[in-house]
Amino acid sequence: MSKQAMREEAERLIRETMEKKALVVKQGNTRIETTCGKCGAPNRLQAEKGTTRVKFACKQCGHKQETL
Ligand SMILES: [Zn+2]
Repeated sequence: MSKQAMREEAERLIRETMEKKALVVKQGNTRIETTCGKCGAPNRLQAEKGTTRVKFACKQCGHKQETL
């Protein structure tokens, strides 16, 4: 196997691992839509299943807060 082929194989494995991980995250997480308490901008968050309170920073103003 050439060096180039080995590198491509390694990159393929890394990509596959990352895709699998992304899939697991998608399945295990829930989406929370909330509104910033400071500027009122809607924020879409990802949270672990069963979590109701999530700490986040508003994507508009950067205000750090927790969902209710
Ligand atoms: Zn905000």
